[in-house]
Amino acid sequence: MSKPKYRHLYGPVPSRRLGRSLGINMVPHKTCCLDCSYCQLGPTTTHTMQVAGYASSQEIMADLERWLRLDGEADYLTFAGSGEPTLQAGLAEIMSLAREHSDVPIALLTNGALLWTDQGRAAAMQADVLMPSLDAATPGTFARINRPCPGLTLERVIAGLVETVAASKGETWLEVMLVRGANDSEEELAAIAEVAARIGPEQIQINTVVRPVPGGGAERVSDALLARACEVLGPRATVIESAWQHGAPVGAERSIEEVLALVGYRPCTLQDVAHGLGVHPNEAIKYVARLLSEGRISQTLQDGETYYTKADFTGSS
Ligand code: SF4
Repeated sequence: MSKPKYRHLYGPVPSRRLGRSLGINMVPHKTCCLDCSYCQLGPTTTHTMQVAGYASSQEIMADLERWLRLDGEADYLTFAGSGEPTLQAGLAEIMSLAREHSDVPIALLTNGALLWTDQGRAAAMQADVLMPSLDAATPGTFARINRPCPGLTLERVIAGLVETVAASKGETWLEVMLVRGANDSEEELAAIAEVAARIGPEQIQINTVVRPVPGGGAERVSDALLARACEVLGPRATVIESAWQHGAPVGAERSIEEVLALVGYRPCTLQDVAHGLGVHPNEAIKYVARLLSEGRISQTLQDGETYYTKADFTGSS
C-alpha cells in the first residue's frame, strides 16, 4: 500500500453536501468536546475542550501549497477531520492563510459546540460555508445524544450558534442528525425547529445514522420520520441524500471497486480502508456501509476491532 501523499489532507472526496471536497484534518482521531452516541468513528478517546497546537500550521500550509501546485482541483477546502477542528489552536489564521493561497471556497465542518469561544467564533468567520450541528434542543437530550465535556451546556452552545451565525458573512448549513428513540419525538423536533429558527441558517440538512453503530446505541430513523422532520423544520430543511439511501455518494463506483479490491486482498479495518482510498474514515464508512447492505462484504469482530472482508474471501491470495 503506497504512503499517503499528504499528512493533513484527504481526498478530494465526492461529497453530497460539498461536491469535490478536499478535507483538512488537524486534530488527532477522536479528540472532541462531544462523545456522540452515533459517532461512526467510535468512542471519543480524548474528551476535551482544550484548544492546543495539535498540528503544526506550517505543516498544514506546506501540504496545502503542495496540493495547490500538484493537484489544486476541488469545490471546497473543508476544515474537518476525525476530531473537532475548532480545538486546533490558530485555526482562524490557518484558514485565512489558505484563503490567501487559493480561490477555492472554504468550509468548516464543526460540531458547533465551541462557537461561543473567541477561538471558535474567529474560525467560523473565515468560512464561506459554516457547517455546524444541532442534534438536541433540550438539556436532557443533549446530554444523552452528544455527551458533552463537563461544563459544556446546551445553553452556551445555542447562544454561540445564534451569535456566530448572525455575525457571519458566509452561509450556514445546519446539520441535524436524527437517532431513533433519542431525538425523533414530535416534542424534540419542535424544540429543534424553534432553536433552528433562532439560529437562522440558510439551509437545514437532516441526516440520520448511516448504519447501526458498533456496540449498539444509535440506529437510523425511518424514511417516514425523515420526511416528518423535514415538515417540522420548515422550508429551509432538506433530507440529505445519503440519509435516504444510506449508501455511498453518487459517482463513487470507482471507490467501491477499490474497497472491494482492498478487502479481497486481506481483512481490513475501517482505518485500513480509509488509508487505502486516501479518504477520511467518515467517507470510507459510506462505501463500506453500501457494500455491507448489498452483501458484497462481511464484517467480523476480533479483539474488539471490526474487520471487513469480501463476501467470497478465502484467505488465500
Ligand atoms: S462531534 Fe463529530 S467527531 Fe465528535 S463525537 Fe460527535 S460525531 Fe464524533
